[in-house]
Amino acid sequence: MTSGAVEAARNILTGLHEVMASRSHAQAKLNNVVEVIGGCLDSEVCSIYLLREGMLELFATRGLAQEAVHVTRMAVGEGLVGMIADKIETLNLAEAAAHPDFSYRPETGEEKFHSFAGVPIVRRERAVGVLSVQHVDPRRYEEVEIEALQTVAMVLSELIVNADLIDEEGAWSLSAAQTGPEQLHGLSLVKGLASGVAVFHQPRVTIEHVVAEDTEAERQRVILAFDKMREQIDRMASQAEFGVGGEHEEVLETYRMFAYDEGWTRRINEAIDSGLTAEAAIERVQQRTRMRMRQIDDPLLADRMHDLEDLANRLLRIVSGQIGTAASMGLRTDAILIARNLGPAELLEYDRRRLKGVILEEGSLTSHVTIVARAMGVPVLGRVRGLRGVVREGDQLLLDAEQGTATVRPSAGITEAFEARFAKNRERQAAYAALRDVQPTSLDGKRVQVMINAGLRDDIANLSLTGADGIGLFRTEFQFLVSATLPQRERQTRLYRDVMDAAGDKPVVFRTVDIGGDKTLPYLRHDDGEGEENPAMGWRALRVALERDGLLKAQARALLEAGAGRTLNVMFPMVAEPWEFDAAKAVFDGQLAYLKQRKRLLPEAIRYGVMLEVPALADQLDLLGPKISFLSIGTNDLTQFLFAADRSNPKLAERYDWLSPAILRFIRRSVRSLDGFNVDIGVCGEMGGRRLEALALMGLGINRMSITPASVGPIKELVGKVHLGEIGAAMEGWLASPPADLRAAISEWAAERGIHAD
Ligand code: PEP
Ligand code: MG
Repeated sequence: MTSGAVEAARNILTGLHEVMASRSHAQAKLNNVVEVIGGCLDSEVCSIYLLREGMLELFATRGLAQEAVHVTRMAVGEGLVGMIADKIETLNLAEAAAHPDFSYRPETGEEKFHSFAGVPIVRRERAVGVLSVQHVDPRRYEEVEIEALQTVAMVLSELIVNADLIDEEGAWSLSAAQTGPEQLHGLSLVKGLASGVAVFHQPRVTIEHVVAEDTEAERQRVILAFDKMREQIDRMASQAEFGVGGEHEEVLETYRMFAYDEGWTRRINEAIDSGLTAEAAIERVQQRTRMRMRQIDDPLLADRMHDLEDLANRLLRIVSGQIGTAASMGLRTDAILIARNLGPAELLEYDRRRLKGVILEEGSLTSHVTIVARAMGVPVLGRVRGLRGVVREGDQLLLDAEQGTATVRPSAGITEAFEARFAKNRERQAAYAALRDVQPTSLDGKRVQVMINAGLRDDIANLSLTGADGIGLFRTEFQFLVSATLPQRERQTRLYRDVMDAAGDKPVVFRTVDIGGDKTLPYLRHDDGEGEENPAMGWRALRVALERDGLLKAQARALLEAGAGRTLNVMFPMVAEPWEFDAAKAVFDGQLAYLKQRKRLLPEAIRYGVMLEVPALADQLDLLGPKISFLSIGTNDLTQFLFAADRSNPKLAERYDWLSPAILRFIRRSVRSLDGFNVDIGVCGEMGGRRLEALALMGLGINRMSITPASVGPIKELVGKVHLGEIGAAMEGWLASPPADLRAAISEWAAERGIHAD
């Protein structure tokens, strides 16, 4: 808050204090309140709308026609007031009538007022009303005035509840009416199926008192709470479950940064200065953070803001003494955790045996909590809009994070169908898990390498869980994505070394950072600072690494040091021309020479490889043949470039088939162009993890697949059922004169041999 806002809020609060202390009844108090606020903000109009029977009703006004009081009513979502309540958002307009949601109410006589500002009155994270001001002149309200309004809205929520002006459950009535089954849709962040009872992560902290009696005492409470919270974070950092190093450490570093952030403490103190209690001040600052968060488009920055929210919740619980999350009370039954968002540390506090799934209103694929959940093997559905409006504590839930849905309060029929699927899924998983120690070998006795893709420390465990042949793609940029700052070289070395230690004799292929494009880092900006129109085809991967060669140098050194005394596999992404490989390798050679000069222990052998992702490289592979040890076909990018179809555009997701002659012929041609060279060829895109696609790849002579860990079992099982000579011959025939539907032909071929498609 600015000092102006502090003063404006304080003036209003002093006025309100008197009103609230008075013995008059609720309606009279509200009438006084609008006078106080309107007067202090020099606004002709000040109105309070409260939620009654699901409608927003004008309860008190200064400036609008008094006949409209208790007459003007609007639905949540209707008009400007309805929109503020619906979205729990502030509006500040110079010309209200120009807003598309403006709905004119003649009985209020509001036509002469131009400017409009409104804030939601929030109780337990739901809007229970709206406070608005209007002015004759078309002017936008100053930020200080808006902040003051927001503070006042908090006080009003206390007044309103204490005065019984709304039924406290009123705000819930809309959702309470919904008792039947309901389906929620979201984004699968971690795939899997789960069923359980809805448990709210945050048993809501109810702020009992908003206006402070003694500002100095409130200040002290906040200081103590901060101390306690910092202690908790520091303790967490030293706890063994987080391990040392790696992304957990990065997360906690971000936490520490916020916990000691002076700006945050200052804002809370300013809110206390304006007359709020410690709880209200924390919540006030948090509300503001949330509002700003909504305006942030950058997903990485938004993730950091979630970390801050996580901490603010912690602080609020400490200061109010309502310390327990659902985790601290213990899960008594199989649970699906419900939260707006969740911090990774908070997720780790849950009993893993009882925690079956997580559903978030927010969340993203790169958020810390998703990464941790993936490592814990807990399915997560994110971006479920209106989640907490539909689900209630204790509701039965079926989570299908394969298809991106969840069913609340399912009927017996739905549950039965889900359970059948679930059981089948479990059976299959168990059968696949039993293949852990099986060496995937084809019917004609050829060994096929099935490796996993990984990128984080926690993924390493998947090597022994799946019995995979190694890590065929280690996406080193993941470490960069989960860090608040550029990971220092030592930290990179530590991660790479740990990964190789854990892999033992099994190979690990480290791909140098594929950063840029859609994987932007807030701390690594494009020179012009602008977003790119076509990021996937833009300044990314090796293109960034060669231009910012400090980045690649540090990574090269980290890899060389970590690989001391062993075989190091290095792979370059997005190579389009042979010279790019040469330039990247030269960076490694430079670092190698440096280490040699200092007589440091070097890797026993270094194997260099490239990814085939850019079609232009295909016609020049023979030029690279003598220089590289391996080639990995990145079908995710390769397909999008071959078909000119953005891989992240959902509209195109189903349009082109991996089992199309275009792709298969392209891969065949690329593979053949390396005949006679000593180059291992494999595939590391998602294509290799799908059974029919993997079958087709084996038909093209590919015998190394690096895939998502969950696919290792299904692909191992497949390999055991395939005669490579036979599929090779069939593939020749299909590609020579492709049938109208190649997928159908391959599928039929497979079915005849007892191979199911998924
Ligand atoms: C690919 O493009 O196929 C690949 C494996 O790399 P990524 O998915 O990380 O772009
Ligand atoms: Mg790629």
